[in-house]
Amino acid sequence: MKIDLRSDTVTRPTPGMLKAMMEARVGDDVYKEDPSVNELERRVTELFGTDEALFFPTGSMANQAAIKLHTQPGEQLICHEWAHVYNYEGGGVSFNSGVSCKLIGGAQGKISSIDVENAINPPDFYHSPLTSLVCVENTTNKGGGACYDFSELQKIKEVCNRHGLKYHMDGARLWNAIIQNNENPKQYGTLFDTISLCFSKGLGTPLGTVLTGTHTAMKNAMRVRKVLGGGMRQVGYMAAAGLFALDHHLDRLSEDHRRAKEISECLQKQSYVKKVEPTETNIVIFYLNDEKSEKQFMEDLESKEVRISSMGQGKLRIVTHLDYTEEQHQHFLKLLHTT
Ligand SMILES: *Cc1c(COP(=O)(O)O)cnc(C)c1O
Repeated sequence: MKIDLRSDTVTRPTPGMLKAMMEARVGDDVYKEDPSVNELERRVTELFGTDEALFFPTGSMANQAAIKLHTQPGEQLICHEWAHVYNYEGGGVSFNSGVSCKLIGGAQGKISSIDVENAINPPDFYHSPLTSLVCVENTTNKGGGACYDFSELQKIKEVCNRHGLKYHMDGARLWNAIIQNNENPKQYGTLFDTISLCFSKGLGTPLGTVLTGTHTAMKNAMRVRKVLGGGMRQVGYMAAAGLFALDHHLDRLSEDHRRAKEISECLQKQSYVKKVEPTETNIVIFYLNDEKSEKQFMEDLESKEVRISSMGQGKLRIVTHLDYTEEQHQHFLKLLHTT
């Protein structure tokens, strides 16, 4: 039995999703004439209570566009040292926007309002870059799928207001946080200038991220997307997958979370495991004991047709998803006992 737990991006469209895609009504989205894209954007603004939304091919492009919308070259943004925008978007922050990152620490990939405030450069001190943006990730990727306390996000917003900073959420897996904590998306919509939301992770579409936010923040979003090469034509086939996912794949994220928790508990019982990070959603991060080599462990799993990912510095990652079935789950739990 082949089991792929490297990422929640490895899923393939379900039969229902494929059918919705085949039947999609489409048009030229660069002219804003694709009814399916328009409907997906409308659904997102309705869910989050935001003014506008725009469909992007990838989460990286949506984040990069947001950073471009909020900054001028030479300025600085504040983010966690593990942030996707800093580590996994090819250096786009400097390439696309000419901006630097002030990195701050914090458990599980989360930053605190106090650390944010301390990281702001004094605006009249012309020697240092002007701080203009704060980016937070919810759930955190490298931080193990951790969710922010909403009250901390509010405190960071107060810091942004006091210092005139823009506030962006990399919400690639915000869906997971919303389902896990039974939250209302609107509370996020009113707090942030922009939020990016991936459809190709837990929701299981082949591609697509929606950037949503205020009129003011999104004013030049179409232009920036065009500059980045993200103006697409009959992309309603993909938006239809997103609409299907909102109706059928959102609530089931709790199953991914349950399975991740069970994997986490199982790993904690294994003598070869040194530490498992707290597991809140669909990501399990763990470390092996010194006696067990990472290479050997990965090879053992590969020989049993199981794939997980290594994030460096001894960090191993398992991500549950739509294509990880209950049958695979029970099989995998047994394997962990005998590996
Ligand atoms: C996956 C992910 C993204 C977007 O990645 P793409 O591969 O460009 O879609 C952005 N932020 C986080 C935290 C992610 O996990």
